[in-house]
Amino acid sequence: MSKIIYDAIVVGGGATGTAVFRDLALRGFKVGLIERGDLGSGCTGNSHGNLVGGLRYVVKDPSVARECASENRILREIAPHLISGQDNYWLGRDDNYIRKALAAAKELDVVAELLNLEEVYREIPELALGFQVAVRSADINIDTTGMCRACLNQGLEKLSKNHFGLKGYYPNDTIATLDRREGGEFVVRTQRNWAFSTRTIVNATGAWANSVLELLNSGINLKYNQGTILVQESLSQRGLQLLEKPGDGQAYIVHNGKAWLGTTSTSISHPSEARPEDDAGEVLRGLLGKLLPGVEVRRTEKMFTGVRPLYDGSTEFGDGREVSRDFQIVEMPSGVYTVVGGKMTTARLMAEKTVDSIAQRLGNTEPCITDKVKLPEVK
Ligand SMILES: Cc1cc2nc3c(=O)[nH]c(=O)nc-3n(C[C@H](O)[C@H](O)[C@H](O)COP(=O)(O)OP(=O)(O)OC[C@H]3O[C@@H](n4cnc5c(N)ncnc54)[C@H](O)[C@@H]3O)c2cc1C
Repeated sequence: MSKIIYDAIVVGGGATGTAVFRDLALRGFKVGLIERGDLGSGCTGNSHGNLVGGLRYVVKDPSVARECASENRILREIAPHLISGQDNYWLGRDDNYIRKALAAAKELDVVAELLNLEEVYREIPELALGFQVAVRSADINIDTTGMCRACLNQGLEKLSKNHFGLKGYYPNDTIATLDRREGGEFVVRTQRNWAFSTRTIVNATGAWANSVLELLNSGINLKYNQGTILVQESLSQRGLQLLEKPGDGQAYIVHNGKAWLGTTSTSISHPSEARPEDDAGEVLRGLLGKLLPGVEVRRTEKMFTGVRPLYDGSTEFGDGREVSRDFQIVEMPSGVYTVVGGKMTTARLMAEKTVDSIAQRLGNTEPCITDKVKLPEVK
């Protein structure tokens, strides 16, 4: 069987994989993307759909807060059509934490605009009593699968201009075998019988990262943490969050009249085990009842669960190269880039860092332009 030659093969069509695909294609690379299901069907499509503004992390993790704030600004510029709803309000009771958070937000250039509390109570009469402060943040809704589709479509359009005839996207398929040959070539065969030759693999399979690395007798030390989101009829038109030390059940995100309450945080031993915890409904209603007491008696319409891959920086097979804080890019073995962690909000940045490394290795000097080029409309 003849092999199609690509500069890079990306595995996984979530926020990360599609952002990497877009960046590689915009820099002129021949790139292919394999997704085993639908775009965004992993953690991306099971997330809160919140374009994070950074306020949650200002005290605990300032560098992540800064990254989120910056990416939030970029996505508002390049993808306004994927953003909807209203900027979230944050409500706080703990004077000490509020003081620290507002000072840190100012220092880090994270949006945290003090509001008139009386006006906020008038706008949202269902709010619990006793809040000391209300703040407007830059957190707002984003269409997560729309973002994946827009990145893919833009990458495909560029690919067809630069490398006419290359298919580029292989949906409902997965890697069946992955062989490493002399001279840094990888041969990829898919379950649908495509065969590719490439010098670069980007493993953007999120919590399933080790299932790809195992094909090369490799692996990284991942732990898995699941988060459950509960959906019910909303009590507010606006997304609301608790301004307190980061923990479970602090976000009430409103999508088209439905409130998404989340999240839990539970260790599991494998992503295939992910399912709502038996007590998730009770826990989330209890925690978010502190924000809006009415949630405790609303009917649960559905619950869903996403899995966060947690990587401690070590590998089972020697030293990988690790970059950054909240997300990690591990090159191991040489030419295979595993990208884990981070947020859907920071996927563009994660892609930029990954593609910078790949470009340097392959001798491509095209600069990253994904922060400037507008994403296309998606149907
Ligand atoms: C409950 C919860 C809520 C969250 N809310 C937010 C939020 O509001 N805002 C935010 O910014 N971040 C949020 N996050 C974090 C965010 O969802 C993730 O950081 C992000 O979605 C990860 O994207 P990804 O592309 O790396 O992984 P995924 O979205 O999991 O994508 C991996 C893809 O790889 C595919 N795949 C797996 N194995 C293979 C294979 N062998 N072959 C081919 N394809 C394969 C999967 O089908 C999947 O599509 C949340 C996380 C959780 C758990």
